Amino acid sequence: MRFSNLGLHTQLLASLDELGYQTPTPIQQAAIPEVLAGRDVLAGAQTGTGKTAAFALPLIQRYLTDQSPHNTIRVLVLTPTRELAQQVHQSFVAYSQDTGLRSVVAYGGASINPQIEALKQGCEVLVATPGRLLELVIKELIDLSTLQTLVLDEADRMLDMGFIIDIKRILRHLPEERQTLFFSATFNDEVFALKNTLLKDPALIEV
Ligand code: AMP
Repeated sequence: MRFSNLGLHTQLLASLDELGYQTPTPIQQAAIPEVLAGRDVLAGAQTGTGKTAAFALPLIQRYLTDQSPHNTIRVLVLTPTRELAQQVHQSFVAYSQDTGLRSVVAYGGASINPQIEALKQGCEVLVATPGRLLELVIKELIDLSTLQTLVLDEADRMLDMGFIIDIKRILRHLPEERQTLFFSATFNDEVFALKNTLLKDPALIEV
């Protein structure tokens, strides 16, 4: 299996080539076609499996191929920590080089003003931790009405860290009609309850 067999755009194939990625990992093989098809996805995956590229690559591809206006937020990725938010943002930047796509990252524990400035420049992808995102939403500094895809990355850790109330508040500001991708390394009752409220007929992926 090669990345080109997954139907990825030549611009993405060039970025992957430059990064030295030769073959898609199992989660990439399973998830990329489902995300490209617009389906919801429920994935049980640990860090290190290549899960970030499994959602970032097809979402960048949709940006390259569909006609939605630029400069509106189409993808929101929620992560439990600042470090993961930065990593996911950097992955979007690396994979989308020369495409014009803009990613912004926002997390707590750091000054909000540079993040507000970055958002004012416009972006198509926003990667954020739940508390800071809610702050930006409440201050009406971001418009999520154009959102196409919500990604919950490491959902189990977000719940362990007590982010459930923030996540539920954020959900009220998102369009009902959207794609949702749910990644979690572990599944307990709380994780199951959250995924049941979020996903519609998801593709199930276990690696
Ligand atoms: P992740 O599980 O998303 O945190 O990715 C783990 C690491 O694997 C990251 O450093 C990625 O850059 C790298 N990676 C992801 N997909 C591939 C691939 N298909 N080939 C080689 N390295 C990869």
